[in-house]
Amino acid sequence: RAKKDGPGKVVVYEPHMHTEALNYLSLRGDLQRALAENEFRLQYQPLVRLDSGDIAGVEALIRWHSPTRGLVSPADFIPIAEESGLIVDIGQWVLESSAAQVAAWRRNSPDLTLNVNVSGHQLVHPRFAANVTRALAVAGLPSSAVTLELTESVLMSDPDAAVASLASLRELGVQLSIDDFGTGYSSLAYLRELPVDELKIDRAFIARAELTSEDLALVRTIVELGHILGLRVVAEGIENAAQLEALRRLGCSYGQGYHLCRPSDPADLPKILAGGPVAPLA
Ligand code: C2E
Ligand code: MG
Ligand code: MG
Ligand code: MG
Repeated sequence: RAKKDGPGKVVVYEPHMHTEALNYLSLRGDLQRALAENEFRLQYQPLVRLDSGDIAGVEALIRWHSPTRGLVSPADFIPIAEESGLIVDIGQWVLESSAAQVAAWRRNSPDLTLNVNVSGHQLVHPRFAANVTRALAVAGLPSSAVTLELTESVLMSDPDAAVASLASLRELGVQLSIDDFGTGYSSLAYLRELPVDELKIDRAFIARAELTSEDLALVRTIVELGHILGLRVVAEGIENAAQLEALRRLGCSYGQGYHLCRPSDPADLPKILAGGPVAPLA
């Protein structure tokens, strides 16, 4: 990519780069307006205790309803929001809205917790800790009810800086989670040093975790590793009853996935929260 080569470098352009650059600029322009135009929404997906089926918390997941592009997946716009720096404002909006929403739900579900995805760009922003504090204070949500999710690859891109930022966030009383674990090549030694509370096993492992497969052995190993390190372990992407049962047998404490509950509009959450266990024991 031309922009990664820095000033003074000679870059050979190929025809497709022009179209790519135009697409990028157009998407970035739309994204820039989206916050002001109120085009973002949040959905919430429950995190479920696998032993009881009770909902422990919810993860906020951003949705972009663009008037011209339709519904755009976060996988398609979050990378551009990160590259352009827009993620700082978008991320702050996510934090503020989800904190206010969960504070409201806690009037009926007092123990409900909130997981929020945080990008690398946000993590290294000098005002991030202050912004988190302000968002939670305005919402009236205690920091102990909040877990910030960072992907393993973000943490691994600059391990020393990550450890320092994580430590200062933890002083606020929020909890920290490693998202998409298993995809980012962190070393065992490094994992021990990270001040985190939760580990989310990437759904690629769960998808392949048939009852006898090598992947199931891998999942078992990650669950045990997490427990040895004193972490809460969450399995992402549970899509069927067999995966759920396998994870229960392995002693994995928490799960998320379409088989348990889809990401849902906020209007639907009170009914889901009041509905009792979502995955009762067979
Ligand atoms: P993630 O944080 O790992 O979130 C899990 C993704 O898996 C979500 O996709 C969720 O809808 C999807 N999912 C949940 N259960 C299942 C299942 O059983 N099967 C399958 N196949 N998928 C399942 P989504 O909402 O499209 O988000 C994709 C990614 O975008 C997220 O991955 C996260 O990295 C990023 N993202 C979403 N919201 C935010 C945000 O507010 N801020 C930032 N920085 N990133 C966000
Ligand atoms: Mg996540
Ligand atoms: Mg994930
Ligand atoms: Mg992911």
